[in-house]
Amino acid sequence: MTLLHPPLALLLDVDGPLASPVTRRVAPGIIASLIELVQQGIPVVFNTGRSDDFIAEQLMAPMLEAGLPEGSTVHAICEKGAVWFSFTPEGPGPIHVDKALAMPKAYGDDIRELVATSYAEYMFFDETKRAMVSVEQHVSVESGVYLGQQVKFDADALALLAKHDLGATRLEHQAPGSAGSIDYRVDPSIISTDIESVRLGKDLGASRAVELLAAEGIEPLAWRTVGDSRTDYAMADWLHHQGHLVKHVDVRPAEGVPEKPYPVKTAADLQLGADIVNDFAGAAFLQFWLDGLAR
Ligand SMILES: [Mg+2]
Repeated sequence: MTLLHPPLALLLDVDGPLASPVTRRVAPGIIASLIELVQQGIPVVFNTGRSDDFIAEQLMAPMLEAGLPEGSTVHAICEKGAVWFSFTPEGPGPIHVDKALAMPKAYGDDIRELVATSYAEYMFFDETKRAMVSVEQHVSVESGVYLGQQVKFDADALALLAKHDLGATRLEHQAPGSAGSIDYRVDPSIISTDIESVRLGKDLGASRAVELLAAEGIEPLAWRTVGDSRTDYAMADWLHHQGHLVKHVDVRPAEGVPEKPYPVKTAADLQLGADIVNDFAGAAFLQFWLDGLAR
């Protein structure tokens, strides 16, 4: 196999950097930039907590419609590494699921029931997830109202984990099962709560990304990871730890930028104001990398 060494590979969180947290959709300009990057031979890999269904709808379909270059492959790592698939101009390949990383079905059924009876006004059960159990804010519900309800929902979700004797953690809180282990995590974001195996994460996604590219003979000279949450730094942490050159872009540095052994960039580094966050910052960085390739 001929080895390819593109100057960069992109590992992109979706909600925030690409999809607007307000509309949950991806702007056409971002689709166009992604296609141009692929055209330039830059590997594009999505690394998201979203389902394959969401990625197929919000990214794959518009990219195919806009025209993915002949011979190119885009990888999508979904559900924080539990699910993945790739697509080419011909469409999607098979969907892979690591079943060992899935939530017990009975627990998911209880959460579906909990949402229907107590939280249906504010949030919905994501039926497209294959491994995680996810509950998301209705777009019509005001963010502050949702976040107030989310705290209550998360407490109920933890109580149900205990009822199923599934040891779990949420942020600083830890509740081991009767065997003393903590195998599950309740992970709140600004628009959703994921309940998942503790083995899932953006670091698992990063390891799958490196494997997927290596299988195509692609060994990038450097990586750029992009995220809007603290947990997204795990992509760059993992890549750096494995000896890859990496810079991380934080598109919503509201909580400040942590000290890291690799460079961390924000919109301020592109001379943009602090009001340029999320997909606006994401779009600016995609353009910045395209401009760099053109030089
Ligand atoms: Mg995100």
